[in-house]
Amino acid sequence: MDRHLFDADHDTFRQAFRQFLAREVVPNQPRWREAGQVDREVWRKAGAQGFLCPWLEESYGGPGADFLCSMIIMEELAYHYESGFALSLHSDIIVPYLYSFANDEQKRRWLPGCASGEIVTALGMTEPGTGSDLAAIATTATRDGDDWVINGSKTFISNGQLCDLVLVAAKTDPDPKNAHRGISMFVVEAGRKGFVKGKKLHKMGMASQDTSELFFEDCRVPAANLVGAEGAGFMMMMQKLQQERLCVAIGAVAGMEQVLKETIAYTQERKAFGKPISKFQNTAFRLVECATKVEIARTFVDKVVAEHVKGKHLVKECSMAKFWTTDTAQEVIDTCLQFFGGYGYMLEYPVTRAFMDARVQRIYAGTNEIMKVIIAKQMGL
Ligand SMILES: Cc1cc2nc3c(=O)[nH]c(=O)nc-3n(C[C@H](O)[C@H](O)[C@H](O)COP(=O)(O)OP(=O)(O)OC[C@H]3O[C@@H](n4cnc5c(N)ncnc54)[C@H](O)[C@@H]3O)c2cc1C
Repeated sequence: MDRHLFDADHDTFRQAFRQFLAREVVPNQPRWREAGQVDREVWRKAGAQGFLCPWLEESYGGPGADFLCSMIIMEELAYHYESGFALSLHSDIIVPYLYSFANDEQKRRWLPGCASGEIVTALGMTEPGTGSDLAAIATTATRDGDDWVINGSKTFISNGQLCDLVLVAAKTDPDPKNAHRGISMFVVEAGRKGFVKGKKLHKMGMASQDTSELFFEDCRVPAANLVGAEGAGFMMMMQKLQQERLCVAIGAVAGMEQVLKETIAYTQERKAFGKPISKFQNTAFRLVECATKVEIARTFVDKVVAEHVKGKHLVKECSMAKFWTTDTAQEVIDTCLQFFGGYGYMLEYPVTRAFMDARVQRIYAGTNEIMKVIIAKQMGL
């Protein structure tokens, strides 16, 4: 069905980003997967062409476009099977914290670099001991004169090696009675004494993503690196997690669209018993089921995005979109992979990598079980 989200400027933006991918990303993908990270330089190249923080206004160094351009970037990355170049995490998940909660001096200090690619960001919430239960984090920040001293460790942190700036959630009030009101957010710049980038983690998928452990050992940051009010960290995370979940849903839908398209083409070419495998009724019926799921997912996510860009705070719908599209993407990609037979188990086939990449979407940005906890609460259950 026709989509109604985008105008002619968005179409031009999509064409420009496709050219960027063809020139700067696609030729490098095998090398990046091997290295376990993308080139640092590609971030600067993306910034120079206005592909970082597309929604950020020009006064802070951004291109002054909108979230729909971000959506285009997420879709095109998925259409090109690039799961490690975390543009959306940077532009649409982390920088929005700085944009919404940092003071003007902080914004002027950090936002232009975030838009130019001089600053690659990471978000440190999850710890070895807790992920879903954010109020239980153990990392602490203690005030000492004009500084805060941060101690603790974070794990599974995307952009962990390449990051120049990490936004860290830490307890400023360790009293368990104040679990939710005791969390604050701090910017820690790479190179600060006591901030140690740990090892890059070996993962099932997202081969070109430098997901890592991070350690803070008596790491001192100035008071001017506290983002938002002291104790407001949990509220800030709850507010910003909606867009994060929507971004995951956008990627999930685009991922299954691409895999389905390539699977249909493959089944029309690949022959068994003297005819294309698409002509077996089982193949046709399963692909019809996949196409129907993809169409429903696309319609719902476009609708949620349309409301989101109008400024609606859609806690329930963003959680629904996240859990349902990522569960569905897993089913669709698994069904499609089966039609590739043995080739569907070979890493050189994009469908194989898409299968492995998709799995994490049900885990990060809040697990799908946590999505259901949120939806149930919103439904008054
Ligand atoms: C590749 C990758 C990249 C990531 N990037 C980042 C990042 O950049 N920054 C960051 O901070 N984190 C990141 N994460 C962490 C991710 O957000 C967490 O892994 C996730 O939130 C789950 O937390 P956990 O791993 O501690 O699992 P746990 O919280 O231990 O959960 C384990 C299981 O228990 C279930 N469970 C927990 N609580 C409930 C409940 N109340 N009801 C029902 N079931 C429940 C969960 O659904 C899950 O199935 C990343 C993770 C991965 C794998």
